Amino acid sequence: MSHRASLACLSRRSAHTLNLSKFPRQQLTFGPTPIVPLPRLSKHLGGNVDIYAKREDCNSGLAFGGNKTRKLEYLIPDALEGGYDTLVSIGGIQSNQTRQVAAVAAHLGLKCVLVQEDWVNYSDAVYDRVGNIQLSRIMGADVRLDEAGFDIGIRKSWQDALDEVEQAGGKPFPIPAGCSVHPKGGLGFVGFAEEVRQQEAELGFKFDYIVVCAVTGSTQAGMVVGFAADGRERRVIGVDASAKPAQTHAQVLEIAQSTAKLVELDRDITADDVILDERFGGPEYGIPNEGTLEAIRLCARQEGMLTDPVYEGKSMHGMIEMILKGELQKGSKVLYAHLGGVPALSAYSFLFRNG
Ligand SMILES: *Cc1c(COP(=O)(O)O)cnc(C)c1O
Repeated sequence: MSHRASLACLSRRSAHTLNLSKFPRQQLTFGPTPIVPLPRLSKHLGGNVDIYAKREDCNSGLAFGGNKTRKLEYLIPDALEGGYDTLVSIGGIQSNQTRQVAAVAAHLGLKCVLVQEDWVNYSDAVYDRVGNIQLSRIMGADVRLDEAGFDIGIRKSWQDALDEVEQAGGKPFPIPAGCSVHPKGGLGFVGFAEEVRQQEAELGFKFDYIVVCAVTGSTQAGMVVGFAADGRERRVIGVDASAKPAQTHAQVLEIAQSTAKLVELDRDITADDVILDERFGGPEYGIPNEGTLEAIRLCARQEGMLTDPVYEGKSMHGMIEMILKGELQKGSKVLYAHLGGVPALSAYSFLFRNG
């Protein structure tokens, strides 16, 4: 796969205005996230492109935040306005999503039920005690471990949890895996693109590529819609970390199409607009490959920027390989969207026992 399409074809027209502000937003993040240059990593990889990172991994004071916190800003108003008293969500044992939902629930004085499924074929000695799940428990969430394996779709265990809250007289607010198939799940990252456009105006240049990790899909979907407003939808390079890329691609496309309608994008999103690189997600969701681990170490040692074995290590690996193979045009500016996930690192301590 190559991403060398001519930079000259980047649209020069000013951005189509997206109608995002009509949706209520509950502030959970600090505000716009910083964009920082990664000069040592750029130089180490040959100096042909300039890498920057947009730091969604430190976007909030709520249990470290991350991409789900930005998405939740558009879901939570419905929960508050509707008088819901319990946030119910689902993920793997080391889910970042559920940790962020637990933090938001605590912050807003809501209850929280989390279904944590056995999505990952990995068992460090204390995999179900440390990292994200530890933080969720400390924040008072009702954490329920479930045996079911990895799937980004709607699950029975989740429905059971919702039913149980209702039977106990509560009002559950369902938040699907990764917030993704919630109708408003894509809005947060439309906002990310709008924010990048503003920051580009201050920086005095535009990014040629945006690299983003994708699993449940609404992060990339929101970006595709947001960047489509100035003709850059195919500049969003998704790096699959699900190891089920056909399912992830289909879900990104579906969410992008529905989100485009919500914000009144002036055109349709097609399958070809969703670029998803399938080379770096293996061997399985939640299991790093040797390249993932090397990418985590390299980025950490060049920049002091940490990434994790489930998500960002895979997108970091993807970006590094694309640069080393010359797949990103020389002279371009690359924005790495750092979506969070570092709290999971301690659950993988065995892999890093020698650094
Ligand atoms: C959830 C998550 C992703 C994937 O985002 P999706 O919207 O599910 O595709 C990537 N990185 C981190 C750290 C995440 O927590």
